[in-house]
This record gives sequence, structure tokens and C-alpha cells, in this order.
Amino acid sequence: KKIEPKKDLYVIASDSAFAPFEFKDSDGKYKGIDVDLVNRIAELQGFNVKFNFIGFSSAVQSLDAGQADGMIAGMTITDEREKNFDFSDPYFQSGIQIAVKKGNDSIHSYEDLKGKTVGAKVGTESADFLADHEEEYGYSIKYFDAADQLYEGLKTGAIDAMMDDYPVIGYAISQGQELETPIERETGGKYGFAVKKGQNPELVEMFNEGLKELKRTGEYDEIVNNYVKDGS
Ligand code: GLN
Repeated sequence: KKIEPKKDLYVIASDSAFAPFEFKDSDGKYKGIDVDLVNRIAELQGFNVKFNFIGFSSAVQSLDAGQADGMIAGMTITDEREKNFDFSDPYFQSGIQIAVKKGNDSIHSYEDLKGKTVGAKVGTESADFLADHEEEYGYSIKYFDAADQLYEGLKTGAIDAMMDDYPVIGYAISQGQELETPIERETGGKYGFAVKKGQNPELVEMFNEGLKELKRTGEYDEIVNNYVKDGS
């Protein structure tokens, strides 16, 4: 189905570092599953996009403020967010997980985080999960603006553990980062493309149509498998 774009150019806000969904490669160019999906969908559906890779919580704010028309950033569809944003059909099944420094033998359960400092990126599902269970497990939370700071914090010992989306941790491990995931992940999070509630409805429709087409032709799998080898 062909939907008519209503704007000459759609501004898409995204995270600054969320590999393998969006990340700056060694050639200085942004790439990743989200980037490839949107670019291909825009091509198929005949609309123009410009990405702003500004960080997760900045992207949420810019979408909310109308500075961006759409957002893709491995963003989990949640009831809370559905109050302010309209989401596309889910395009990726994810989940969140605790990671510790490789060789750390003291953490096997959430209970083991008692008295420890756990990091997460501000405004994320992981940050919400940690805040919801802070009293129960007795850790303290340290918030970071961007992934590089979060992962660096774990490396240097500024935090004892961190929480992030499991495919992102998995990708970091596959790229040689010294991490391990001693606690079973929380399942259920699905990623969606978002617009501000009631705004740019045709953009969501075009995304959904394009996504269906990419799934039908197998190109969706090609894009994902380009970045994640074992489908995780
Ligand atoms: N999926 C998580 C969320 O929606 C994290 C997204 C991200 O950090 N880019 O909160």
C-alpha cells in the first residue's frame, strides 16, 4: 500500500550509541539495524529522512517538543510512553539484563546487588526497572547520559553492575568488551518506531507498511543478521 508523505523531509531522532541498533562505525558514519530499517523503509515508501543521533533521553525530549517528527532508538513500547507517543507495530523483541565485569564472581542474583552501585542510562526501561526495585534489593543507582559512559563506568569500577538491553550487551561482548551476564534477563520488551501522540500519523503508517514489506521479502532478516549473528 502506498501512503502519501505529508512532509518533504522527516526528522528522525535517535540514540547516540546503541549498537547494534545505531552506532558510529570506524568510518565515522552512523549505521545499525534501526538506521538500515528506516532508510530502506523510506526508500520503499518514497519519503525523505534526516537522522539526529542525539542520545536516548534527548531524542525522547525532542520528539515530545516537536523538534523531531519520529524516533527510532531501540525504544521499548511501554504503557507509560503510549500516553505521549504513538508507536508503530513492534519491530524487534528485546529484554533487559544486568551485566558485570568479566570475572566478578560475587553477583549471581538481584539480592547480591545489596549495597552495590548499579548503573543505567537515564530515561530508559532499565533505569525504570532499577528504580522500581531499588528498595527491594538495596542497591543504589547511578544514571548515565550515554552508553559509552555507562560501559566505561563498569570497566573502571565506578559502578559494580549495569543494566541495559540484552542485545546491546550481547553485541558489546561480541565486540570484545569484558562483560558477563550472571542474572537471567527480563523478557517482554518490544521495540517500536514512535511519533508524538496524534502527530505525523502517515509516518507511522509508512513505517508499518515498509516493515511488512521488508519482512515479506526477507530483507528484514538480512538487515538484522548483518549485525547480530545468532539472532540474539
Ligand atoms: N529499550 C530501552 C528503552 O526503551 C533502551 C533504549 C536505548 O537506550 N536506546 O528504554
